[in-house]
This record gives sequence, structure tokens and C-alpha cells, in this order.
Amino acid sequence: MTQHILVTGGAGFIGSHLTRRLLERGDRVTVLDDFNDFYDPRRKRDNVAPFLERDDYRLVEGDIRDDDLVDRLFAEGKFDAVVHLAARAGVRPSLEEPLLYEEVNCIGTLHLLEAARRHGPEIFTFGSSSSVYGINKKVPFSETDEINQPISPYATTKRTGELLCYNYHHLYGLKTSCLRFFTVYGPAQRPEMAIHKFTDLLARGETIPMYGDGESRRDYTYVDDIIDGIVAVTDLAPDFEILNLGGAETTRLVDLIHWLAEELAVEPRIEYLADQPGDVPITYADVSKANQLLGYSPNVPIRDGLKRFVAWYTNQPTGE
Ligand code: NAD
Repeated sequence: MTQHILVTGGAGFIGSHLTRRLLERGDRVTVLDDFNDFYDPRRKRDNVAPFLERDDYRLVEGDIRDDDLVDRLFAEGKFDAVVHLAARAGVRPSLEEPLLYEEVNCIGTLHLLEAARRHGPEIFTFGSSSSVYGINKKVPFSETDEINQPISPYATTKRTGELLCYNYHHLYGLKTSCLRFFTVYGPAQRPEMAIHKFTDLLARGETIPMYGDGESRRDYTYVDDIIDGIVAVTDLAPDFEILNLGGAETTRLVDLIHWLAEELAVEPRIEYLADQPGDVPITYADVSKANQLLGYSPNVPIRDGLKRFVAWYTNQPTGE
């Protein structure tokens, strides 16, 4: 059955992939996005361009902090579900602007939950982050691990979002799912994220500034796998769940750089720099809960995903 889904942050990296998937399967999509300049908004315009002429797609330009706008949108929208991806993303910039992160990621999320409580829908899927785990001693990270020591403002805002979702589930019966995404990559990835940034530098023959000794490890998740998880949990609509969505394998930072260089057929030059505050030494998802509940299983191993990313990158008309 066709559903009408509100995707906040739908002009962004993950949101535009989700939009495509939902439209392809016959859903109607409304996007709410403020096209802010966290990175070049022209990239976001490019992300939405393929959908603008469609009857089953509507773009609303606005800010989730604007509670009047959000309230009107929900009152009129008659949505079947909300997938809330609008946020200030990224650990490092959150150290520079903690208040902005708090306002958008916490207050903005609260406006959406309030509007959903007043007008529906009852299904609310929230894009959380592996950063809530902080420096977790135990790997892989499970949803039951204790997470009381977030080490960046961004992580704190994402944990707050999860707690707000729980409130609205407990108090008002909203069916809220919080998905902890582990470093997502793929076509249209945010330009400041490592894979995109390193590819830029390698392609231009520039030196890569690498923080730490290169031994830090990340669980990278190809965007199609993340979209599988988002769609599955939104369709299932459990009462309340927190779920990891990861690639379920880890990659050393130096290996990532060398594999990207291999794909681009260049020799990498690396400048070793001190660790960055707020960065964690490892992320690694235990995805067994998502597997049990949703049948989630990451399909794209890192080397394949990097190949696909570089293929997208080298085909960009902007000469990326
Ligand atoms: P993105 O920046 O590409 O997308 C976010 C979108 O939200 C942008 O288009 C932006 O314009 C919009 N937005 C931001 N503030 C807004 C506001 N106040 N009002 C309306 N729209 C606003 O980022 P992304 O990588 O696609 O991330 C999507 C979501 O997933 C975010 O919530 C992010 O925290 C979360 N997440 C992403 C990753 C990742 O690796 N990409 C990992 C963990 C969690």
C-alpha cells in the first residue's frame, strides 16, 4: 500500500538515497530541509533535482526549529510515517558550535515529536549515531552497552534524541525507532567525511592529513545497507527500539587510505598528525539485533563499496 512519508533532512546524503528508494517502491515523499551551508548547498540542490518534477514528491524548504512551520506541515501532511534525518552532523564541528548542535538536534527533534503527538503519524524513525557509544571498551558495540560517557556535543545531542523518542513512546504511544548509524558512505556522501575528503585529496595529488597513527578503526556502512534498515524498521513499526545499523566489519584508517589510493591508481602521501579531541579509537557494530528483528544484513563489503564510491566520484560532471 502506498504510504506518505515525511523525510526530514531529505536533501542531504542519506535522506536523498532514502527518497529515491521510497519513490521507487511507490511511496509518496515529502521532504523538509533547510539547505543550510554546513556544506555547499548546491550539493543538496543536486541531490533533490531528480525528484522535483514528480507528482509524488514535495519539497518544503524550512527549518525544523521553526515550530509553527513544523506544526502546520504535520497538520496538513497526513503522513503515515516520519523518518527524521535532519541534523547538524559530525563530531568535530560540534566542538566549535555546541549550541547550534543542541538547538537543531535536540530542540528541532522535540518540535517534530510534539507535532507528531498532536497530529500524527504515530510512526517515527530517528537517525541516531554510533557516536553515542563514546570510547566503548567492549567490541563489538551492542545496544545494551552502557553509554553514559559521550565524548562530544554531537554524541550528546544524538543520545538526547533517543531519550526524547523514548519519552514520546512511553507517554503518548508513538512508535519510535532509533537507528544508530555507523559511518555511512556512498555516492553523495558529505564532503567533509573521511572517505570523500581523502578521495578529493588523493585525486588532486595532495597530502592527506591523518589524525593519529592510522591504527584507529571504523565500521563503515554502505548507504544502500543503511536504507535497507531504515525502510525495514519504518515498515515494521515496533513500539520502541534502538538498533545498530553498521557494516559489521572494521577497517584501519591507513588501510582505508591505501585502498582508496589503489582505486584511484595514485600513490598516497600521508602527513601524521596528533589525535583529534572527540574522536574515538574504534567503532564496531554488533548488528545481531537488527538482523533478528528486521532481517538486516549488510551486503556491501568495504572494498566493493569503495569501488562504487570512487566510480561515482570520478563520474561527477563538476570534475570532483
Ligand atoms: P547531511 O548533512 O547530508 O543531511 C542532513 C540534512 O539535514 C541536510 O540536507 C541539512 O540541510 C538538513 N538540515 C540540517 N539542519 C536542518 C534544520 N534545522 N532544518 C531542516 N533541515 C536541516 O547528513 P547525512 O550524513 O545525510 O546524515 C543524515 C542523518 O544521519 C543525520 O541525522 C546524522 O546525524 C545521521 N548520521 C549520519 C551518519 C553518517 O555517517 N553520514 C552517521 C551517523 C548518524
